[in-house]
Amino acid sequence: MTMTTIGIIGGGQLGRMLAMAAARLNYRTIILEPQLDCPAAQVANSQIVAAYDDPTALERLAAECDVVTYEFENVPVSAAEALALTVPVYPPPKALEAAQDRLVEKRFINECGIPTAKFHTVDSQADLDAALKDFGGQGVLKTRRLGYDGKGQKVFRSSADSADGAYAELGSVPLILESFVAFEREISIIAARGTDGSIACYDPAENVHRDGILHTSTVPATISDATATAARKAAEQILSTLGYVGVIGIEFFALADGSLIANEMAPRVHNSGHWTEAACVISQFEQHIRAVAGLPLGNADRHSDCVMQNLIGDDILALPDWFKRRNTLVHLYGKTESRPGRKMGHVTTLTAK
Ligand code: AMP
Repeated sequence: MTMTTIGIIGGGQLGRMLAMAAARLNYRTIILEPQLDCPAAQVANSQIVAAYDDPTALERLAAECDVVTYEFENVPVSAAEALALTVPVYPPPKALEAAQDRLVEKRFINECGIPTAKFHTVDSQADLDAALKDFGGQGVLKTRRLGYDGKGQKVFRSSADSADGAYAELGSVPLILESFVAFEREISIIAARGTDGSIACYDPAENVHRDGILHTSTVPATISDATATAARKAAEQILSTLGYVGVIGIEFFALADGSLIANEMAPRVHNSGHWTEAACVISQFEQHIRAVAGLPLGNADRHSDCVMQNLIGDDILALPDWFKRRNTLVHLYGKTESRPGRKMGHVTTLTAK
């Protein structure tokens, strides 16, 4: 049977960009998302308006699609597994499982032979006090689940920072204390694996965050060839171990000696890969669609250097200036209301050829 319809769970900007890439290759897309007129549904063929774990909606999605993918990592694993009984679900649900809980994620990454920050699980204030003591009063406390863009985190820079009440402050939920990594820069790699097991990696991007949210991604990153190769090898190892299909984003801390510490992985297209739509022939979005549709992966080489910048909240007011710039690709997400911290769009400027 020829594949015609791709289901996408989640209706945000990542789903929107996947639907646009799919349309260019003649695939229809159906978005499962509770919010009406979401960014993805504006450009897709149709939307099922329901919760991500609504059994009737999932049944409909399975019946109407040839393959189902997702645009965010907090899709309930049970929903993905139920779907996978009747329709291929890519990336595989076990990738979701590995990415949803920071403890499971770190253990998995370490099992792949890739270093992470040291960590302790924290399930009480007493656990936190003991964990901080072990790390000399320094560390980053994070919720194990549902954290994003620096939310659900607390940084302890020295033993002078009080931890009193911090466990309750983060919601008295399962936490993890990570050792504080004195990194030189943050990089990420976007990579893809096809149904035939082939792997394509984009060049690592150097990322700058502001208030916990990605601000810019610059390519090439100021790292050595050896560090770039290490990032590629780590991505290949993770993709192969998971029997992965689709695009993954993996974030790393690069230390002064060039070594890498993995921070987290996202089993989906990634904000730090948006630059690929301007600086590569095949964007991460088309690459993901190719992978889940069983097509050959495309060329991930970069034809230009570039800087991608997120337009967050009122950054959108500078749009008239961005439109005047030569070699800048503007991409807007169809969100009518701007709020502080809300991703409204992004711009990618080619800086060299
Ligand atoms: P995350 O939500 O894990 O991506 O963390 C958000 C940001 O916090 C990262 O991009 C880093 O800038 C910083 N951060 C997270 N974990 C650590 C750590 N263990 N050591 C130092 N900085 C960190």
